[in-house]
Amino acid sequence: MKLIKGATLLSIILVSSHLQAQSKIDLLFKPDSIRKIVEVLASDSMKGRFTGTAESYRAAQFIIDKFSRAGLKPLAGYPDYLMRIKDAWYNVVGAIQGKSKPHEVIIFSAHYDHVGTDATNPYPMAGGLAIPRKGDTIFNGANDNASGVSAIITLAKYFSLKRDNERTICFVAFTGEELGELGSKYFVERCNPDSILAVINFDMIGRKYNNYGHPYLTGVDSSNLIDILNKRLSEFNRNEYGRNFIDLDPFPREHLFERSDNYPFAQKGIPAHTIMATSPKDIYYHNLGDEAKALDYALISKIIKAIAIGAEGLVNGTDTPTRIGRIK
Ligand SMILES: [Zn+2]
Repeated sequence: MKLIKGATLLSIILVSSHLQAQSKIDLLFKPDSIRKIVEVLASDSMKGRFTGTAESYRAAQFIIDKFSRAGLKPLAGYPDYLMRIKDAWYNVVGAIQGKSKPHEVIIFSAHYDHVGTDATNPYPMAGGLAIPRKGDTIFNGANDNASGVSAIITLAKYFSLKRDNERTICFVAFTGEELGELGSKYFVERCNPDSILAVINFDMIGRKYNNYGHPYLTGVDSSNLIDILNKRLSEFNRNEYGRNFIDLDPFPREHLFERSDNYPFAQKGIPAHTIMATSPKDIYYHNLGDEAKALDYALISKIIKAIAIGAEGLVNGTDTPTRIGRIK
């Protein structure tokens, strides 16, 4: 009798803590939760997060706060989450150690820098032409790339709540992307490429490139990562995701594979690709109008959730993408 009572009580406690974790996970993926992250990073007070500025440092501190609340740990050999590249230039890095394969690493990344204001933007001709400026001088970079940062923060919280990863998961917010992928180049020179089994980088996931709103992966021909992700999604829920939820890169002539932080990793043979949802010809691209109110948060939510599901085998050690061959 006692035993049964005890067992019943224990199972009630286990069920309710499982439900608590589940409801926390559901909350993470809510479009409103994602919007709150983007609104901070893309606010006017961040002045477009130009690399090396005080505002960029404030953005880094915001990401650090999220990483530390999620329980991420700094990389081995680093006293905190900041990876200093040079004066006031920082990548932000946090990790969840793998349970049985700690030396096998999966990276989720996104750049948090943008082009700043009229005073700093290195590509002034690209911004402000399509949409009247109305006195605005700040390139808020909501889609490019507060949207991607919202993905890595959300995934950091998600995998922290699950805590069942066999491989180490590393979350990286890069600086210096707009100046030539400088943060990711620095990072990759300081790690052993053989230990990194996959990089999923997020860039511009806040606006659709076509009506039906699926994300696409850059450089799909160079590894089988897309097949791994789509197979997982299809097995998880065929009705919702179909067979090929993640699209092939619809803009091969734009060379997007080479234009984000996945590329320095790919050059080392690491299967490293970028998830995108927006056309490089989007009217807000590198434009003053790239503000938080112009994004589709249901879309971002859908994409982050899909990657959380699709990457299940990568983090539990059962899926390993093929390496990338020599890149000219
Ligand atoms: Zn950009």
